Amino acid sequence: MPERKDSDSRKLLLRLRETLAAPGGGQHRLDQITHHIADSMGTQVCSIYLFRDAETLELCATEGLKPESVHKTRLRLGEGLVGRVARTGRHVNSANAPAEPGFRYMPETGEEVYPSFLGVPIQRVGEKLGVLVVQSRDARQFSEDELYGLEVVAMVLAEMAELGAFLGSQSDGLPQAHRFPVMFRGTTAQEGVAEGRVWLHEPRVVIANPVGEDPLKEKARLNEGVAMLRSTVDSMLSGHDMGGGDSAEVMEAYRLFAHSRSWLRRMEEGIDLGLSAEAAVEKEQSQARARLESAADPYLRDRLHDLDDLSNRLLRILTGQGRDTGASMPENPILVARNIGPAELLDYGRKLKGVVLEEGSVGSHAAIVARALAIPLVIHAERVIAEALNGDPIQVDGDSGVVHLRPEETVAKAFRDKMAMQAEAQQRYAGLRDLPATDKAGTTVQLYMNAGLMADLPSLDGSGAEGVGLFRTELQFLTRTRVPRRGELAGLYAHVLDSAHGKPVMFRTLDIGSDKVLPYMKPQDEPNPAMGWRAIRVGLDKRGVLRMQLQALIRAAVGKPLYVMFPFITEMEEFEDAHRLLMEQLAREQRLGHQMPSDIRVGAMLETPSLAFAPRKFFEMCDFISVGGNDLKQFFFAADRENERVRRRYDTLNTSFITLLDQIVQRCNAANVPVSFCGEDAGRPIEAVTFAALGFRRLSMRPASIGPVKHLIRRVDLDELRKVIDDARQAGDTNLRRPVTEWLARQ
Ligand code: PEP
Ligand code: MG
Repeated sequence: MPERKDSDSRKLLLRLRETLAAPGGGQHRLDQITHHIADSMGTQVCSIYLFRDAETLELCATEGLKPESVHKTRLRLGEGLVGRVARTGRHVNSANAPAEPGFRYMPETGEEVYPSFLGVPIQRVGEKLGVLVVQSRDARQFSEDELYGLEVVAMVLAEMAELGAFLGSQSDGLPQAHRFPVMFRGTTAQEGVAEGRVWLHEPRVVIANPVGEDPLKEKARLNEGVAMLRSTVDSMLSGHDMGGGDSAEVMEAYRLFAHSRSWLRRMEEGIDLGLSAEAAVEKEQSQARARLESAADPYLRDRLHDLDDLSNRLLRILTGQGRDTGASMPENPILVARNIGPAELLDYGRKLKGVVLEEGSVGSHAAIVARALAIPLVIHAERVIAEALNGDPIQVDGDSGVVHLRPEETVAKAFRDKMAMQAEAQQRYAGLRDLPATDKAGTTVQLYMNAGLMADLPSLDGSGAEGVGLFRTELQFLTRTRVPRRGELAGLYAHVLDSAHGKPVMFRTLDIGSDKVLPYMKPQDEPNPAMGWRAIRVGLDKRGVLRMQLQALIRAAVGKPLYVMFPFITEMEEFEDAHRLLMEQLAREQRLGHQMPSDIRVGAMLETPSLAFAPRKFFEMCDFISVGGNDLKQFFFAADRENERVRRRYDTLNTSFITLLDQIVQRCNAANVPVSFCGEDAGRPIEAVTFAALGFRRLSMRPASIGPVKHLIRRVDLDELRKVIDDARQAGDTNLRRPVTEWLARQ
């Protein structure tokens, strides 16, 4: 076989482009294309397999195999060599295909006389569309040049498919990409259900012309685009105070990528083979995405993400397509994104009905914002960006972490039934809004809500919460690009207090550091951030910010009671120290002539097991204590609350954990200090009644949980439940969920 030259490849691509421009249906085009490819590559066979649905590939056109097998031969994903290419996103190049592991013999195609096989994926930035195969009679391995040439052709086919070139005319109507229903199983980050239309945070770039006629012109365009990209990256990074450490290294790696010669060279090679500048960028991007899917090393994954991000920027420069495509947001928008920062999510605000992310984590700031906005959030929905198009119908089930894209009518209907049931339940809860959470024997539990944004406060009245049991002040810091000024914070806190209309608000001082890194804070290189330099530890070591925050709180609460609580207190001395700092600020503000709050209450968050064993004096010093169950549980069980592998492994109703909580309540009661529970578990009805039975008289939760928790408390006798718990503990049960739920079922 003669050496393939760049000019052959370019000629082939031009022929493909002519095929695309010529009249005729999709099937005719596919037939022509296989003919041109076989002819240009000097092979006896060229076949195109496309996805019929997410799991099945269908032979859609062939030159050389038996024509009657077209639209008849089908393979499952992963089946045979074709299925392997589709599943892995990697080529298979073999001189003796039948000897390859996984080879599947398809007698109806007559392929047995062609031992050599080269198959490449037809994919567009991670979205799998099908497989392109050439086969020949002589048993030989295809060369690197041939492989590269075929990948370029596959890339052009993918672009043509995206433009709809193969639509229509197939006898039995082959479903196209972005047509069929897809279900994604992700992870719940915020409960709730929503139905709406897809709104892509980063709309996909459309490449109108994948084939370049004049390589010199295309290279000049590419080089111009890259120069512009480099200068924006340089100025973007020089605007950042990189400080040092990890973040500086990451930024530097990003910059190096943007300046990479080999990246540019590979894209130029694509142009030499006949691609337009933007198609050459996308070809590299597609391959990086395919590698990303199989890369396990987190560092490598991050770098591949960098490359992906740079490719997107470059594509936008070359095509002139900005993020703002002029499309208007659909009604009931459901945001679909790879990941999103808290500030960006806040910008969308309450317009959104739900959020679906490919990445993200349960404890991420975006998740906290979604929680505050009370919109369902599903994370880890793999490949959703590749599948979703703006405006597609979508249903998000934040309760089970499932997303239905373009759902079939039966699925859609079942989903709507679930939504209707939930709406009905909410209606029922609304009727309880002004009633107390009093059990059958007359014990009342105060139900408070957690908040962190101004946007949360309207829920205070709507939910019937008696106050804000945890105001996470770090959100105001996380959503800014610089440290907020004291005046700004004071204004904000005053506004919060005004909106609370006299209901108490427990302000927790900053819980930042380690994983909750502020954009303007020098990141710390810590091996185990959750147990690292965070919260009060930062506050006491770097007192300036904590002082400023305390002053802002004092100024905001003129003439009103002020509740301050310090996060992550681990030993009594930390509380004493923080308490002293607050008293100093009060004295200072008074000296400066500022008006004082009417009352000051100082509390501690009990989030580490050690504090449960603090001296009695500690409990007596506190005006109130709030158990941060999210952290307390992760340290009690040594199970990272953000690690999907372990975070659900240990049950909150595990007897040992309940025994710890019981002891905490007893110690607080003995010292006569009010104790509340403000972790996520407080919002789960079964957990909530159990805590109440242990003696917690205040629970703080997300607003949407107040109704269901109140509903349950009002239907039980907490003393009886206490007995059930004690009996089960006496009997040696290691977990209380079964006795508690069985007892509840009998109520
Ligand atoms: C907790 O740890 O339970 C808590 C309420 O604090 P955060 O979730 O903000 O760490
Ligand atoms: Mg905590």
